[in-house]
Amino acid sequence: MRQYNTTQRILVTGGAGFLGSHLCDRLIERGHDVICVDNFFTGSKRNVEHLLDHPRFELMRHDVTFPLYVEVDQIYNLACPASPIHYQHDPVQTTKTSVHGAINMLGLAKRVRARIFQASTSEVYGDPSVHPQREDYWGNVNPIGPRSCYDEGKRCAETLFFDYHRQHKLDIKVARIFNTYGPRMHPNDGRVVSNFIVQALKGEDITIYGEGSQTRSFCYVDDLLDGFLRLMDTGPEVPGPVNLGNPNEFTIRQLAELVIELTASKSRLVKMPLPVDDPMQRQPDISLAKDALGWQPQVQLRDGLKKTIAYFDTLLADARPE
Ligand code: NAD
Ligand code: UDP
Ligand code: UDP
Repeated sequence: MRQYNTTQRILVTGGAGFLGSHLCDRLIERGHDVICVDNFFTGSKRNVEHLLDHPRFELMRHDVTFPLYVEVDQIYNLACPASPIHYQHDPVQTTKTSVHGAINMLGLAKRVRARIFQASTSEVYGDPSVHPQREDYWGNVNPIGPRSCYDEGKRCAETLFFDYHRQHKLDIKVARIFNTYGPRMHPNDGRVVSNFIVQALKGEDITIYGEGSQTRSFCYVDDLLDGFLRLMDTGPEVPGPVNLGNPNEFTIRQLAELVIELTASKSRLVKMPLPVDDPMQRQPDISLAKDALGWQPQVQLRDGLKKTIAYFDTLLADARPE
């Protein structure tokens, strides 16, 4: 650890993705040196374009399934496709990214004695039989289905984090992230918020999978990032796992109706088949985050959606021919 000032050298894997690029912004704002590592599978240079000339920012093309030797004080491990369409595109690579990626980043953290954060997920709870989900619930996950590469990969990564913690006394921080949305989501990544907004803005049909009675709890990206930083600022006595998400729960149909209202769109709602193993409900119990981090989300879905709609509106306008 460098002692001469409070600037830390921080590695962000998956730093050119949706959450990673916001995290890079926040760390640069805090005065840190940031190394952003990404293989650009789902992320893009465009997300960090504004940082490329910054003297404290460095972008490195690298796949975390291969070893990485850099000297850093902290690591945020976010590398992994997050949308079902992308993580199911090459499921073997998804598991490799979660598992080999975790091993490499933990090995790196062990060598340089860095504090290391893992972007885990509510998917470790699978299709939960306990509602809302607390951290001590072990989950209901299908080990052999189309979502398993992601769910089980992330579960194995959590196991590795806790074994490095117990075996090598590593300072770990595991966050279980619930559905998060905001600017810089990929317009085609298939997640529900980006799909509905893009469809509404283009006047296309809004695709509801199943009856739309399944629920999700949506967190705005700025709130989530506050949670990341607060967790990373705690001492080694708080390894997690800690749920980070917004406990306000909505049905998918309610989300569609809200998007239509806020975009004043003429789009119609159409039903499509429900994907295999699609969880019926999801809501975080955030008591632990409230107690241990003094954290809770501030942004209501309506306000967060307005900001996200404004982002996609500009993005689509830029893409339109003159
Ligand atoms: P994203 O797809 O926008 O970002 C993932 C980034 O990781 C991309 O930039 C991608 O190119 C990069 N990446 C993928 N495989 C890689 C590899 N092998 N080596 C290097 N880089 C690689 O998704 P996101 O929403 O920003 O998610 C970031 C992290 O947060 C992921 O680990 C995801 O599982 C987790 N998470 C996100 C959510 C959410 O709602 N956004 C919820 C739960 C968990
Ligand atoms: N590793 C890395 N960067 C480092 C140190 C290690 O990428 O700075 C990788 C290395 O490839 C190794 C993995 O992390 O396979 C796990 O490292 P660890 O020291 O835990 O185990 P070992 O080297 O004994 O397999
Ligand atoms: N969904 C939907 N229409 C879409 C995209 C998704 O109805 O165009 C549903 C999907 O079936 C799921 C929910 O919205 O029930 C959230 O999907 P997403 O892929 O965003 O995240 P996850 O299932 O991983 O929570």
